[in-house]
Amino acid sequence: MSTKYTIGTLGSHSALQILKGAKDEEFKTLVVTLPNRVNFYERFSFIDSVDTISTFTDFPSIEKKLIKENVILIPHGSFVAYLGMERNKKMKTFYFGNKQVLDWEEDREKQHQWLTKAHIDTPPQYKNIKDAIFPVIVKSFGAAGGSGYFLAKNQRDFGEKIKLFKSKRYIIQKYITGVTLYIHYFYSPIDKKLEIMSMDRRYETNADGLGRIPAWIQHEVEIQPSYVVVGNSSLILRESMLPQAFEMGEKIIDASKSLIDKRGIFGPFCLETIITPDMKFYAVEISARIVAGTNLFTHGSAYSWLNYNEPMSTGRRIAREIKYAIKQNRLNEILD
Ligand code: AMP
Ligand code: AMP
Repeated sequence: MSTKYTIGTLGSHSALQILKGAKDEEFKTLVVTLPNRVNFYERFSFIDSVDTISTFTDFPSIEKKLIKENVILIPHGSFVAYLGMERNKKMKTFYFGNKQVLDWEEDREKQHQWLTKAHIDTPPQYKNIKDAIFPVIVKSFGAAGGSGYFLAKNQRDFGEKIKLFKSKRYIIQKYITGVTLYIHYFYSPIDKKLEIMSMDRRYETNADGLGRIPAWIQHEVEIQPSYVVVGNSSLILRESMLPQAFEMGEKIIDASKSLIDKRGIFGPFCLETIITPDMKFYAVEISARIVAGTNLFTHGSAYSWLNYNEPMSTGRRIAREIKYAIKQNRLNEILD
């Protein structure tokens, strides 16, 4: 396919997967990155051009060029994290996705409203610590990657830790003990179909290291868990639980259409869940974009293989959606 469009993204998070997928779908590819990462991205032959900016916040300085080159940007976890919400919204370069969803992704209260509207169980939340069932997890607003959280085992423990807590805006949730599972969805507004692309578990330091220390030592030294993500591993779900995974994805889409706007959420998104011994899913968060856990599946997953007889990553699926939309003259429906 020859097209006037180039698929581009910022150089971090899931850029390699996105651009490999774009190249497999025969697009020109571009990465915008920092000077110290140029060398790194130049190692990969599927990236046609590497543009630099001195800091990520300098992004607007390169926009004119991107617009002229008909670049379609694919947002990922670094966009809001490094560009900031306002810069992200003001961007004039073609952008894959619905920017209206950004406000609903960023705000914990709106997320909660979204999940409630979708009738998906969430960990019980407490306005007053006196009502809490312990242990609880306390999360600051705007915490990225699970730092800025603490656990409390009772009211006294909470009282002591909250005094040292830097954030004034936070939520208190019941701590759910179970298996964490992150489900990677893709919803195509072009053929109105929801797919599960893959699933992952996160490796969070030091929470995932604590289990390697005997309880008596943990007890003595009182290590506080943190949830800073450093990597991901794959997981396959019991088949009897898969219908529910699809239903949850569909409910998220339906709720977004009534809460956000007519288009609602589309493209890649992820539901972060914890599964308890009664096999109930508790949703902790919605990520309204490609998540880095999909990087495990550059070559496709057990789930994408059910739908495609070729390797289909989430990055490639995005490029394919753009390709379909171009063919059907419907590109305006999937860009902002
Ligand atoms: P990075 O591109 O690694 O600097 O990360 C950008 C944002 O994405 C940060 O908010 C990270 O916490 C998040 N992130 C990066 N890698 C992962 C991962 N493997 N799993 C979950 N979140 C991630
Ligand atoms: P989040 O920033 O909300 O995605 O949470 C980061 C990590 O904290 C998750 O991947 C879980 O490991 C953990 N976590 C968050 N909320 C809860 C909860 N209510 N119960 C147990 N673990 C949680």
